[in-house]
Parts: sequence; C-alpha cells; structure tokens
Amino acid sequence: AEIDHIRNFCIIAHVDHGKTTLSDRLLEQTRTVQQREMKEQLLDSMDLERERGITIKSHPVSMIYEHEGKEYLLNLIDTPGHVDFSYEVSRSLAACEGALLLIDAAQGIEAQTVANANLAMAQDLEIIPVINKVDLPSANPEAIEHQIEEILALPREDTIRASGKSGIGIQDILSAVVNRLPPPRWAIFPQARVLVFDATYDAFKGVICYIRIFSGEIKKNDEIVFMGSGTKTTVKEIGRFSPQMISEKSMTAGRTGYLVTAIKELSQIKIGDTITLTSEPAKEPLPGYKEVRPMVFSGVYPLDTNDYTKLKTGVAKLQMNDAALTFQAESSAALGFGFRCGFLGLLHMEIVQERLRREYDLDIISTYPSVVYKVTKSDGSIINVDNPLFLPDPGEIEQVEEPTIRATIHTPNGCIGDILALVSEKRGFCDHTETVDADRVMLVCTLPLNEILIDFNDRLKSITKGYGSMDYELGDYQPGDLVRLDILVNSEPVDAFASIVHRDKAASRGRALCERLKEILPQQMFKVAIQASVGSNIVARESLSALRKDVTAKCYGGDITRKRKLLEKQKEGKKRMKQIGKVAIPQDAFVKVLKTS
Ligand code: GDP
Repeated sequence: AEIDHIRNFCIIAHVDHGKTTLSDRLLEQTRTVQQREMKEQLLDSMDLERERGITIKSHPVSMIYEHEGKEYLLNLIDTPGHVDFSYEVSRSLAACEGALLLIDAAQGIEAQTVANANLAMAQDLEIIPVINKVDLPSANPEAIEHQIEEILALPREDTIRASGKSGIGIQDILSAVVNRLPPPRWAIFPQARVLVFDATYDAFKGVICYIRIFSGEIKKNDEIVFMGSGTKTTVKEIGRFSPQMISEKSMTAGRTGYLVTAIKELSQIKIGDTITLTSEPAKEPLPGYKEVRPMVFSGVYPLDTNDYTKLKTGVAKLQMNDAALTFQAESSAALGFGFRCGFLGLLHMEIVQERLRREYDLDIISTYPSVVYKVTKSDGSIINVDNPLFLPDPGEIEQVEEPTIRATIHTPNGCIGDILALVSEKRGFCDHTETVDADRVMLVCTLPLNEILIDFNDRLKSITKGYGSMDYELGDYQPGDLVRLDILVNSEPVDAFASIVHRDKAASRGRALCERLKEILPQQMFKVAIQASVGSNIVARESLSALRKDVTAKCYGGDITRKRKLLEKQKEGKKRMKQIGKVAIPQDAFVKVLKTS
C-alpha cells in the first residue's frame, strides 16, 4: 500500500471495557480472520492474562479495509491496559498515529482511562473516543459524553457509539480510523529508521522484534544496526502479522510487522531502540528512547531448597519473554539460595510469582517487597539500595530518598473521607479533586511508592465496596526519614524479615511482626526474646515462654512402634528447620509471617 493508505493505531481502555471483544470484531469485519477460525478471543493468548483481563504482551495485527473503493492497510497495535506496564504502553503508542479510546457506556471513565489517555496525548496521538457496550440496558452514553468533555477535554461530537458485542458502530470506527487518523508520520527521512516497540522469544526463531518502519526500507538479508545498543546483525526474516506471521521480501515506511535476526537472547534487545542500515545509517535515532527500570524488588526463594535449580530455570525462561524482569542470585541465612528479582510494579510482581507457581510448578516464598532507595552517604557518594540488608549504618547516611507516585483514584462520593484518611495514613496527600459525575470523584494524590506495595489497593477496594479504581505513574524522589527495621530472634537478626520503613511506622510494624512471630514460632526449651529494632533501639518486643518438649510423653511408654514413628516424624521435621542462632525456626513460619506482613 502507498503510505497515504496506511493507518497505525491502537485501542486503549480500562480493564474490562471491551478492548479484546472490539479488536476481534474489527478483525472479523475486515475478514482478517474468518469467524469460524476465531477463537473466542484472539488477541489475549495467555491464560493468566485472560483471567486478570490484562494484555501483557502487545500483538500487532494488519488488516485490509476497503473504503470508498480504495484499499487501506490498517495496523492495530495492542497495548497492555495497566499502568504497571505504562512503559510498554508508551512504546506501543509511539508506533501509532492514533488511538481508539474505549469507554464502557455503563461504567464511565475510570482511572486507567485517564492514565492511558494522558499517555496517548503525550505522544501526540489523534484520539477517537468510543463509547462501547451501548447495547447494555444500563448504558448511559449522554453521561459518558459529558465526562469525555469534562475530564478528558475532548469534544463530544467526536465520540462514536459502539458495541463490540452486537456490532453497532463498527463501520463508523473503521471509517473514522481512515478519515480522522493521519497517515504515517516521519516518513520523509531518506535513511531507514525502524522502531522496536516490543519483542518476544520464540524457541525456533529466537528473538522476534515487533517493528514499526518510520522511514526507508528494510529487506531480507540487509545488514542492520541497533543504534542504542550498537549491536550489528543481519535480517533473517521480515514480515507482517495477519494475524499469523507472514514473511515478506521487504517492508517500507509506514508499515508495522516483525523482524527476526540471528539474536537469540531477549536481553540483547532494548525495547524502544532504533534499527537502521549499516550501509546508509540514520544520523539520529527515533525520539523517546527510555530504558526499562524495575521499581519493585523482592527476594524469591524455593520453599523446598532442592528446587533451586528448577527456580533458576523458571526465572530465566520467564525473562526470555519479559525484558522488564531482572534477577540476580542472592542468599539468605533464613531462606537459603534464591534470587533478587526486579519488577516494574506490583502487578508485574504478582504475575511473575503466579507464573512461577503455575507454569513451573514451584512453591516459592518471596520476601517483603522493597522499592529502590537513593542513599547519599556521609562521604558524598550516592548508592541505590533495593535490599534492606544493604542499607548502610545510620552513622554513614547523609540522606535517604524514596520514589513517589502520582495516583489517580476514582471513588464514589460517599467514600472520599475514608479514602483521604487512607492516603494520609500512607504518608500521602491529595493534590486536587475533580468531579467525574454526580456520584463519583477523581482524586489526584502523591504517595510514597513503598506505602502502596502491600495493601493499598485491597483497602481501596474494601472502602469503596469494589467501586473504586486506582492507577499510578511514577513521580520524583523525595527525602524521607527512612530506617531499617530488623527483627531479632533470641538476639539474632533474621535477614528475611528486615525491611526499610519510615521511622514513624517502625514501632507499629515492628510490633505487628513480633506478635505474629510469637504466634507462629514453636516454643523452645528456653525462653526466646522476639524483638524489633532500629539500629540499637528496640522498638517492640515479645517473649516466647520455654517448653520442655517431649514428643513421646503422650505414648505412656507402651506402644513402641508408635514411639519410633513419632521420633522419625520429629527428625523429618528437623530437616525443614532453619537454625537462627540457638533457635530452630520451621520453614513454614517464614512463609506464614511473610504472607501476612
Ligand atoms: P478487555 O478487558 O477490555 O479486553 O474487555 P473484554 O473484551 O474482555 O470484555 C470484558 C467483558 O465485557 C466481557 O465479559 C465481554 O463479554 C463484555 N463485553 C465486551 N464488549 C461488550 C459489548 O459491546 N457489550 C456488552 N454488553 N458486553 C461487552
């Protein structure tokens, strides 16, 4: 197709507002896939994604659409919906000129709608607002149009009413894509500039780059260079997704598709990098290159220490398809050998842990998650700390800074008071509020990232009875009075329980951990002190009274086989103990404490 007959666009939406259903409908309408070969929902391939309603990997698809006697090539680039993946969202958006912004006609604008719309506007995309699911009896399109004007500042005349389910408005959407979205931009450069907006690993082909050709032409067997990493290689295959991979001899400016080289490891590819030809290289890469930085770290250990190799394989395999996941071997006195893993955010962390459990059949335990702190030491040097154990001694610290987030929270009016109390309990504040409709408001808040790691979302959901939603983007670092909280059992620090907390919260968190440990730890032959400390200050304490443990006492000396069995059972139990100083702590005590803290 000529460049004027190409459109690159994406669909952005809050989870469950119908993106997958609508995408399928567009593929069906353009006969890209026949109805009978359509699986229920084509674009989301992973089970886990389906369950959570989140698209993690973006799959582009090319469609041919006939409009007023001319053929158009429409490239639909799927985007992950959740802002944990905002980096991936931005990369996909960068490959497009326009976006369909989908809003559920019954639910209205939600946190992710706003977050995604902002990302699209930041990329200068043309936005077509689509009010979806208008077939629902509870649909209220007029109210949604009002929200679109008020909250997103988009003209209501621009909106299209549609239903991915019943097919209403699908033709209107396709013609709006052709008529209202601009043809591919930046095509006038003579040299080749190709954006790698995503990549995936395939056992046979190696790394498959998802590409958008902005200018020039790329052919099979061309010698290319990745401008960011400097890697040089040869094009082994290039082509389009339709939706399966279909190879082509060459692809020109404006097109979207895939590219395969000799590169076998995903870690060698930087998403967002620009490819050019070695024979005639571009002078400048495409704008907007940003490296992925994991924001949340946690230690991941096998429950059964024999599973270490299995865990190692699992993490490495997951990373092959997930460039944002980082890991590094670490060991813990309490938990043995494991990995320090870095994630984009909480959701990313949960998904990785869940996949290790399901796809690799592993029982894992993960330590209290930590953000990355910037620590200025007394000697002036600055270090990044993502593990509480590496926080320098208080005497060596000049300043500790922590990452913040800008959260967009949507809540029913009646819950504002409780939400504000929650935000302030989490050391945050509300910057401003905006009315969404008669029943709901949007709060824009600044909060420390570390405060939302554990229960913020659950609390939000419970306060709002499930009607609230939240999304966030990363903000700046800010100084904070942050300290390491150690948990000591019989005066020995237990590394797996250490965490970095705000000084004001050290005592309450310390108390909660000590109480929990007291419940869980088995009594010993001697009295055991359980303490929480900040430096040399004990901020909380509990004590576990002594017990003389005689497992055979119950047997009245009678039944000898039963006695032997019990002794064996005790021996078995000992294997799963971790020795902390004089105290043996059962492995499952760590699990119980870390799960509930
Ligand atoms: P996604 O999370 O945005 O990809 O949303 P899905 O396409 O998976 O749809 C979420 C839910 O809404 C599913 O239960 C769909 O059956 C339903 N749904 C999607 N589109 C429509 C629509 O146009 N009308 C109605 N009534 N339901 C829809």
